This record gives sequence, C-alpha cells and structure tokens, in this order.
Amino acid sequence: MKKIAVLTSGGDAPGMNAAVRAVVRSSQYFGCEVLGVNFGYRGLIEGDFKPMGHLDVSGIIQRGGTILKSARSEKFREKEGRAIAAQNLRNEGVDALVAIGGDGTFRGGTLLSQEQGINVVGVPGTIDNDLIGTDETIGYDTALNTAMEAIDKIRDTADAHERLFLVEVMGRDAGFIALETGIACGAELIILPEALKNIKDIKQSLRDILKEKSRSTLVVVSEGDETGGAIKLSSELEEDFGKYDMRVCILGHVQRGGSPTAHDRVLASRLGYEAVHAIHNGMSEVMVGVISNEVKITPIAETFGIIKKINFELYELAKILR
Ligand code: ATP
Repeated sequence: MKKIAVLTSGGDAPGMNAAVRAVVRSSQYFGCEVLGVNFGYRGLIEGDFKPMGHLDVSGIIQRGGTILKSARSEKFREKEGRAIAAQNLRNEGVDALVAIGGDGTFRGGTLLSQEQGINVVGVPGTIDNDLIGTDETIGYDTALNTAMEAIDKIRDTADAHERLFLVEVMGRDAGFIALETGIACGAELIILPEALKNIKDIKQSLRDILKEKSRSTLVVVSEGDETGGAIKLSSELEEDFGKYDMRVCILGHVQRGGSPTAHDRVLASRLGYEAVHAIHNGMSEVMVGVISNEVKITPIAETFGIIKKINFELYELAKILR
C-alpha cells in the first residue's frame, strides 16, 4: 500500500471533515501517501485530485460540510465513467479508495472494485443513519441535535399560542431523525415512512391527542414520498382540523450544516482510521462501522442490500410518554 485516495460523496454530513482528517493522518501513520478527490465521483472522472498532508487537514475537525466538496455524478453510474475514474487512479499510482458517503456511494464503489479492480473501503457518512453495519452513521447525531434545538424553539412559540405545529425533518425513506428528535422534543405525534403514513390513521391519532388538554401540539413529520411531507399533510388535515391554529415548519438544510457534535467527531475519527487499517490489511468492498462501541467490518454489498429497521420499541415509547 503506497497511495490512498479519499473522497466524500452524496449528501454532505457534519463529521465528514473529521473523517477525511483521520484518513490522511492514519495513512501517514501507516506510511502511505494520500490523494484527496474533489467533488466525489465527478472529481474521480475529471481527475480533480490534490495531494494531502498533515497540515491540509489541520483545523477542520470542527467544521461542517466537507473540504473535499461533494457531488452527484450521473456519469459514474455508467461503466464507461467508472473505467475513466479507475484509469485516473491508476495513472496516479493509487492502490485503494476510501469512499465516505451513503448507500449510493457504496453501490458505485462496489462496481468500481468489481469491474476495475480498485480496492474500495466505505465509511458511512450520511445524516439519514440508513445503513446497516453501524449503529450510527457520521452526521446523524449532529443532525439530530440540530433538529432538536430548532424544534425546542418552535415549541416555545407553539406553547405561547396553543398552536398545532407540523415540523418536517429530513429522512425521505428512513425515519431515524424523526423518531429520535420526536422523542427528544416530546412530540405528541411522530409520522415516519415506516409507521403511521395512512392519512386515516394519522387523523384518528391526532383526534385522540387533541381531546386531551395541552399547551401545544407538536407533530414531527419525516419528509417522505409516501406522506408527502408536512405541507401535503397540512392540506389534508385542513378540512377536519381547520379550527386549530395550525402551522407548518420545514427544517430543511439547516439539519445538514453546523459543527459536528463530539460524538460525530469521535465516530468519524475512529472510522477514518479503521478504513485505512482495513486497506492496510488488504481488504476491499467492506464498510467500517461501530456496533455496541466495537468496530465492525461489514461486506459493503450488505449495507445497501439490507434495509436498516427503526427501533419500534422507541416508537411505542414515544406514544406512552407523549
Ligand atoms: P445520501 O444517503 O446522503 O444521499 P448517497 O451516497 O446515497 O448519500 P447518492 O446520490 O445516492 O448519495 O450517491 C452518490 C453517487 O454515487 C451518485 O451521484 C452516483 O455517482 C453514485 N451512485 C449511486 N448509485 C449508483 C449505482 N447504482 N451505480 C453506480 N454509481 C452509483
């Protein structure tokens, strides 16, 4: 192992910088060079590379976003694009690639390894937490805390006017953020892609909740193709719940930004190191994760082949405690 490339891809997540820093510094520890790839797979195809050393990753552990930038690349979805990317890496003398991203990034990385013989190790970096093989993905904890702080503020104003608030959080296909922020904020109702998506059931639950006297009613809604998110939901509720002072707030991209929490910085540091360690041990097509505070290596294909389930016990708990 002489040279490792590292990229960040897909949606950015707080803690990606801490992971890049760990990859660069761990590579130095193992005595190999690092090539940073700008703009994810797009940069791989365009040969947008830069050598990275100790100082290049200094002062970034606390920064959100990604200094390597991120992008989505349609060309990389085609075999031709991946062949160009692999040739660019070979031209630079790169032995292996650390891909920091989500399930799409890992699908692409797997094909790069299988078709082109480039060793690829994945580091889970996505706020959605929708990857098996790790209890939490890098960025998830920060996104949770950001959403929680915002919802706490909404609660104050909702209380002042006894309003019914629908707050939309990120998570198109997975309700991890909605579930845990819902619990952390004491939401009266939580609507997830995995549960309570039928409008009849939602209305019934809301009726039951509104029967009880409360200072305000907070509904945390996962953005989602099935529920259509908070705006569509509010229009569907208008007819039956029009007498309530209903408001909608979409938290949106604030959930992606901000300084990573201590938890995300430590997780990213650990996983960045473990990715390099795995490459050092000759591994490829694996993802590094942490389960029950222990490092776990998972075949990368499983991470996008198996759906990570939400904890339904937590969902029931939220109903008991509301
Ligand atoms: P997030 O979970 O935050 O959205 P992600 O890694 O899943 O992150 P995607 O946009 O799905 O984000 O994937 C990132 C990039 O990976 C895509 O732009 C594309 O270049 C590549 N990719 C995704 N799916 C595939 C695939 N099936 N085959 C080849 N490349 C893929």
